[in-house]
Amino acid sequence: MENNELEMKRHSCAHIMAAAVQQLFPGTKLGIGPAVENGFYYDFDCSHAFTPEDLKTIETKMKELIKARIPFECKKMSKAEAKEFFEKRGETYKLELIEELNDGEITVYFTGDYADLCRGPHVEHTGKINNFKLSAIAGAYWRGDEKRPMLQRIYGLSFNSKDELNAYVKQQEEAAKRDHRKLGPELDLFSINDHVGPGLILMHPKGGMLRKVLEDWIKNENLKRGYDLVVSPHIARLHLFEISGHAGFYSDSMFHPMEVDGDNYQIKPMNCPFHVEIYKSNLRSYRDLPLRYSELGTVYRYERSGALHGLLRVRGFTQDDAHIFCTPEQVEDEVKQCFEFAMHIFKTFGFEKYSVELSTRDPQHPEHFTGEVADWERAESALKRVLEANNIPYTTHAGEAAFYGPKIDIKVMDAIGRLWQLSTIQFDFNLPQRFDLEYVAAEGRKRPIMVHRAMFGSIERFTGVILEHFAGWFPLWLAPVQAKILTLTDEQIPYAKEVAAQMRAVGLRPELDVRPEKLGLKIREAHLERIPYTFVIGAKEAENRAVTVRLRDGKNLNGLPLEEVISKMKEEVDTFSLVNLLQ
Ligand SMILES: [Zn+2]
Ligand SMILES: [Zn+2]
Repeated sequence: MENNELEMKRHSCAHIMAAAVQQLFPGTKLGIGPAVENGFYYDFDCSHAFTPEDLKTIETKMKELIKARIPFECKKMSKAEAKEFFEKRGETYKLELIEELNDGEITVYFTGDYADLCRGPHVEHTGKINNFKLSAIAGAYWRGDEKRPMLQRIYGLSFNSKDELNAYVKQQEEAAKRDHRKLGPELDLFSINDHVGPGLILMHPKGGMLRKVLEDWIKNENLKRGYDLVVSPHIARLHLFEISGHAGFYSDSMFHPMEVDGDNYQIKPMNCPFHVEIYKSNLRSYRDLPLRYSELGTVYRYERSGALHGLLRVRGFTQDDAHIFCTPEQVEDEVKQCFEFAMHIFKTFGFEKYSVELSTRDPQHPEHFTGEVADWERAESALKRVLEANNIPYTTHAGEAAFYGPKIDIKVMDAIGRLWQLSTIQFDFNLPQRFDLEYVAAEGRKRPIMVHRAMFGSIERFTGVILEHFAGWFPLWLAPVQAKILTLTDEQIPYAKEVAAQMRAVGLRPELDVRPEKLGLKIREAHLERIPYTFVIGAKEAENRAVTVRLRDGKNLNGLPLEEVISKMKEEVDTFSLVNLLQ
């Protein structure tokens, strides 16, 4: 089935759902009901608050309507007729939509008594609908406007086949279990709280440790690849963002400036202008290039509170940001290196599949894009050549480039088959011009090419993604606590402390549980905390300088010599292993 056909089916399903809702809950007013990815939704103004049980009742009613094979009938009306028609039915939201339409013919789709303001097209009759399931209820402001009424949105899933539907439902159930918003607080990694404010993350000690490991790793990887580390402040004169242009075209995403000594200061939404200023702090020669400035730069951006989502959409986050300044001749190598860097990350974190999107300018509309055509061509073909030389499949999106340059976006597929946007490699012909960047070449002064690139994207977001990818079971090198040491009785406390000290001495991260609780309870808790290894220490272990290692799957490795356990764990960490070496 073609995509637009599936979309038509999904949208028709939305009509049937709305018809069922209006039959079950008379007086319900309609908002809008489009097809979306994986299905459809409809927004309702209904005095009854929908419950999960209602979804089943609505589904049953929908099945009745489907069985009746009611035709979808299109009726053309003038604007005045349509207004009168929907006014009579009390459909105030539809009236508002009609007001905004041009004069001329308006189409209204009927399925039995149900009528909807709609452009169509639709399936022939309700009997064409199958393989759907109502999935969720959410609040949604009318027209996404927080000042307008809050409507109730019912989401439905709809696919071409029963198998696809079932596979998706199963994936969603698995996703719910590993939702980072649930796992984060459960594993005591992070929290978000009202006193601090929405979209602002508090990393707890374990989250802080995970973050340190990620930061150390990415900084070292940057250094290996010839990046410099730079640091920039969280605020700067608004003036800086006026030069960069952010104060104009990006202001909707920026917090309001604050006044300091009669001047306006801006909390930074981007790191780029700072790195540009570092570039400008000296006269650069072609011999200095490429310059690669990297920073774990924390930025603050305004997001509507309704758009915030755990660690994935936040108001303050830290990018593993870098800006490369190079000559046109160096561009291809630089892009290639960025790409290899991204691949190295995916391998290290166990993302086996990825997809690449190349966004280019629209040659029909050169006026939408800044910079020289020759630069664009060079940049676009460099991106293409790197992808092709490495046999990387990609899709091209003409006209989707930012106005200031083409880019590559890389999405990874996680352990349960979902795609996540992580890395971006973005050209910029705008900032070098705005800041009048130059370097001295053999033939005089020239403008460098600037590339923005982020590998993790944001560390918060990346943390959320890997938390779900690993379902909280981090590989040893990432796990905030790598082993939990459990004692059977107080007799073993001195030895348990010694074990912990020896581990810490080689950089491992143990945690002690010497509480006088039952061993079974201590084991269960360590498992719930998703700690890779649990050590059980009884009299025999203490006597033999050994540990019994309990694995994630419940298997016990009895009485292993402590030295051996420590060296194996060390090896597992040092090689960034994705599998446990003790097994
Ligand atoms: Zn419709
Ligand atoms: Zn940038």
